[in-house]
Amino acid sequence: MSVAGEFDLIARYFTRPAKRAPLGVGDDCALLAPAPGMQLAVSSDMLVEGRHFLSTVDPAKLGHKALAVNLSDLAACGAKPLAFTLALSLPTKDEAWLEGFSRGLFALADAHGCELVGGDTTRGPLNICITVFGEVPAGGALLRSGAKADDDVWVSGTLGDARLALEVFRGTLSLPAELFELARARMEQPTPRVALGLALRGIASAAVDISDGLVGDLEHVLRASGVGGRLDADAAADRLALVAHATGASAGLDREARRACALAGGDDYELAFTAPESARKAVEQAGHAANTPVTRIGRIEMEAGLRIVDAQGAPVVQRFASFDHFA
Ligand code: ADP
Ligand code: MG
Repeated sequence: MSVAGEFDLIARYFTRPAKRAPLGVGDDCALLAPAPGMQLAVSSDMLVEGRHFLSTVDPAKLGHKALAVNLSDLAACGAKPLAFTLALSLPTKDEAWLEGFSRGLFALADAHGCELVGGDTTRGPLNICITVFGEVPAGGALLRSGAKADDDVWVSGTLGDARLALEVFRGTLSLPAELFELARARMEQPTPRVALGLALRGIASAAVDISDGLVGDLEHVLRASGVGGRLDADAAADRLALVAHATGASAGLDREARRACALAGGDDYELAFTAPESARKAVEQAGHAANTPVTRIGRIEMEAGLRIVDAQGAPVVQRFASFDHFA
């Protein structure tokens, strides 16, 4: 894109006066100033058209989601959002798209006091890469590696809803209109659990955000922590919001499909975390303070590997990692 076009576009859609950052958009670097005693938490996530979203998606929702998936990583570390950068590759200078995208992006950014301090803009296939910066007390970040034998395993919010919406888009499932809208909102505008991540500082022993499915992401925690665990498939499947909120909605879904959505659906952006049994009350209070439901769904054990069991404790033979379609 022409130089004038590029700078005009940045000035028009992505430049706002810096608030907390000493220097924002406009120079070769932005400057950030974490508070004394705090460490910077940094994470990047890229969204590629056709892989992570459809070209037809509402740009305002895409702006929301591009930042939300990044804020979710800060949440998983118990970090408070400070700032972000935006690297954008655009096929054309589509003003209506840019207006919508920046509106959705800044609405979520403002809700979290997270300011856009820089980025890069180039012509190319539609591709959105955001890097977020947060702060966390030195040594106080929630890590994947802190789970201990006998800790409880918890999950926030609801699971599997985004996957249900995806299956409706794929044509493998049909849902009543109002339930589809609920699922679609969860897929297109996930809520990063930032407040919960902050409330769990000093309480959770390990945490991860669920982007690729509960089972796969929990296995990252087990491996990083050198432990194993037991997961109650039905306690997790009960977190499928559409099942919880409307029994009629589960008509087209058998138990296996419900478990598959909740345990391996992906795109949930909930937090899976562990905490000692002695912290149960503190975890409940953290959930309450963050206005986010938290549910106990398993237990950490010494023996490596994840054992998935039903409500009676019997092994569930279904394979979750390879879940791809509804049976
Ligand atoms: P440089 O050539 O030094 O990398 P650029 O000319 O690419 O800088 O960008 C000019 C300024 O605009 C920089 O401060 C950069 O961080 C900022 N910027 C570029 N693209 C974006 C964007 N999409 N959102 C926010 N800031 C951006
Ligand atoms: Mg540049």
